[in-house]
Amino acid sequence: MESQGRRATDALRAVDGVVDSYLRHSNLGGRRIANLAATIAIENSGAKWGSLLLDEGTGLNPTIAIQSDLSAAEAILDDEDLRQAEDTAELVVREHSLAAPIVLDGAVKGVLYLRDFPQRPGETVQKLANSVASRIASLLRNAELLEALDHSKDDIHALARLSESFAAGQLGPANLDETATQAARGSRSLGGVIGLLSKAGRLEECHTVGIPSDGPIAEAIRMVTSEDLSAIERSLPGSVIFEPLSADVLHRRAKGKAGGFLAVFRDASDPYRLSEGSFIQAIANLLSGALARRDYFEKASEDPLTSTGSRFALQLKLAEAEARSLKTGLPFTILLADIDHFKEINDDYGHLVGDEVLKDVAEVLRGRLRALDSVSRYGGDEFVVLLPDTEVQPALRLGQELCELVAAKRFASFADSISLSIGAAEYGPGHTAAETLRRADLALYHSKEQGRNRVTRYAPRLE
Ligand code: GH3
Ligand code: MG
Repeated sequence: MESQGRRATDALRAVDGVVDSYLRHSNLGGRRIANLAATIAIENSGAKWGSLLLDEGTGLNPTIAIQSDLSAAEAILDDEDLRQAEDTAELVVREHSLAAPIVLDGAVKGVLYLRDFPQRPGETVQKLANSVASRIASLLRNAELLEALDHSKDDIHALARLSESFAAGQLGPANLDETATQAARGSRSLGGVIGLLSKAGRLEECHTVGIPSDGPIAEAIRMVTSEDLSAIERSLPGSVIFEPLSADVLHRRAKGKAGGFLAVFRDASDPYRLSEGSFIQAIANLLSGALARRDYFEKASEDPLTSTGSRFALQLKLAEAEARSLKTGLPFTILLADIDHFKEINDDYGHLVGDEVLKDVAEVLRGRLRALDSVSRYGGDEFVVLLPDTEVQPALRLGQELCELVAAKRFASFADSISLSIGAAEYGPGHTAAETLRRADLALYHSKEQGRNRVTRYAPRLE
């Protein structure tokens, strides 16, 4: 009896040794150490064989069986000892067996099961089994915490990657698909959806993960409007995190409307934790910021009156045209067009009529150009027509045609016709796009000086 006691004490010391070294140094899985601890306990308990059974989320499963095999351990899964230990969370001692429950947060996470003792297991063996069971519980907790830590590291990396891609202005379909995937993965969800709404509040763009495209959830998402975003929350099954996105800060926040939403869901029996809510909220905030920037960029790129490109967008287009020209070896040409005596229209008919004329002229210019070309409002009544892959000669002919089209244009609000003056300059190696624009301006000045309603080509003699 005494030797059994010493053996048990030595065994516990050995278990403590492996548990300690695991906690201090090892990055072996907590479960492997749990198996090792159970093995030491079983081998030193005097039982003929034993098993460690752990709850893998689907009920108890044997992870080891000593002096027997796993199939024998599986065969005892419906053993009454096990059931009782599981139900009562108390040590079960019988004539030739012992079952020590492994309890974590009041729930039984496993059972250390010892069988076929030559006699009823004594107090020392009971103590050994109980102590080892509680050490296995702390190993499992440790493994759980490490796993959570690993998850939160992954989450931080996911957020860093997303914020980097958003900062780089990447908001294309592939990127939003990836964002939905990261949101679902990081929140341990079954599925997720990012929906973007049009200005009219209808679903415009949708990126889903884990949602069949022809099922009822996808159908409900398609029907969503900004008036009733809660319909999404209602249509997603189980536990749901839902975050509205405010994409267009100026337009929508003023109206209290969302520009979209980000939602994830998982099984109802698995409610989301606070940290998972914060993770989704962080992605939603990043996404809102990126969408708002995209919105501002689009607004800044368009002239609000004429819907031509803005002067800001012109800078980008000039840089693009320059890069294209250097690559292809083909020049681009700028036509700088200014309405003649425009001030008189304002003075005679008022600014509102003047505004209509600016819109109409922009329309005439746009209507005559190729998709590759662009019109930007340079200021007041001046427009830049940018013609990539175009030499000055054909550009001059086009400029002449534009003058004729504008002269032939009839306006709703007054009977007079108007005319355009244009300056043309070709970009070439050896000078910048900004210099080309300056040359076009100089040529325009000469068109004005020569009597207006004409196109002048830049030449050094004009300087
Ligand atoms: P010129 O033939 O020399 O070009 O004579 P102009 O009268 O057209 O002279 P200028 O180009 O200097 O005048 C531009 C005028 O355009 C001055 C300004 O009041 C007016 N203007 C600038 N922006 C707007 C606008 O958005 N709407 C309206 N209605 N008028 C504008
Ligand atoms: Mg003018």
